[in-house]
Amino acid sequence: MITGNTKLLGVMGHPINHSFSPAIHNAALNDAGLDYAYLPLEVPKESLNNTLKWIKTLNFRGFNVTIPHKNDILPLLDEVTEEAKTVGAVNTVIRENGRLIGYNTDIVGFTAGLAEANFKAENKNAVILGAGGAARAVIAGLLKEKIKNIAIAARNTEKAEILAKNFNRGVVCVNFADEEYNNLLKDADIVVNTTPLGMYPNVDAMPPIDFSIVKKDALIYDIIYTPEETKFLKEAKEKGLKTANGETMLVEQGAAAFRLWTGEDPNVDLMKETLRNALKDCRHEGVE
Ligand code: NAP
Repeated sequence: MITGNTKLLGVMGHPINHSFSPAIHNAALNDAGLDYAYLPLEVPKESLNNTLKWIKTLNFRGFNVTIPHKNDILPLLDEVTEEAKTVGAVNTVIRENGRLIGYNTDIVGFTAGLAEANFKAENKNAVILGAGGAARAVIAGLLKEKIKNIAIAARNTEKAEILAKNFNRGVVCVNFADEEYNNLLKDADIVVNTTPLGMYPNVDAMPPIDFSIVKKDALIYDIIYTPEETKFLKEAKEKGLKTANGETMLVEQGAAAFRLWTGEDPNVDLMKETLRNALKDCRHEGVE
């Protein structure tokens, strides 16, 4: 029930009507008996600055940030964690004494998926497919988990090289068409798809990869969560490889935001069940 004491949370993006976050968070807030309401906040690019000024004065505890604001919001916040600065993206904001502080919980969401798959990154080799926003959080997560080598394979190597420069260490960049891509795949202990190839409704697409050359004990991780099993994961499974999808990343980035705002642990199983039900009702592209 919304009362006079209810504190506000929300997710800011444009468009926002496809977001699963209001359903996931309100279910967890109700379950925890916390007096918060989580709202969808439709904020076009040109309104971002004014919306932040307005939010500072209201009874918001914080909010999530999604497409297209994850990068543009950084200079508009009062403080940003070092981690979020390295990634160049904020997906969670806390309002503390009227100040807005930006975090990136996609990183911990991604590493929660690694833990669930029982993957220990230390001293291993990773190949990341794609060089967009999500790839940055994936790389930060792998570095946090002490991965040995990281390579990015992309269709646009220049973009990948710009991304690689954000990280304080060598990251190899190759084009999907390069011979070197296959050499990297042969040595990979983990391959992560961060391109949208295969995401609903384009379920017949997948990034170029020859799974027959990948090590038998490698983890194939697709951060897409709709469909549950992308063509990329299906083909990997058919070759006997271990797979993980993006569901845990999505739910755990939300759970980490919940902890930052409320100081309490959410019911993660309920969050997952709510996401699955929402996906069943509505097979669409979905944003966090
Ligand atoms: P993005 O910033 O647009 O980056 C997408 C990357 O994929 C870019 O490198 C892009 O290359 C590449 N790409 C796109 N189409 C391609 C194609 N046809 N062939 C080869 N490469 C292609 O998107 P993002 O924000 O990183 O999101 C990527 C995916 O991750 C989406 O499916 C999103 O839903 C998912 N995601 C999941 C979670 C989660 O919690 N599970 C969180 C964030 C994102 P160019 O730069 O050359 O265009």
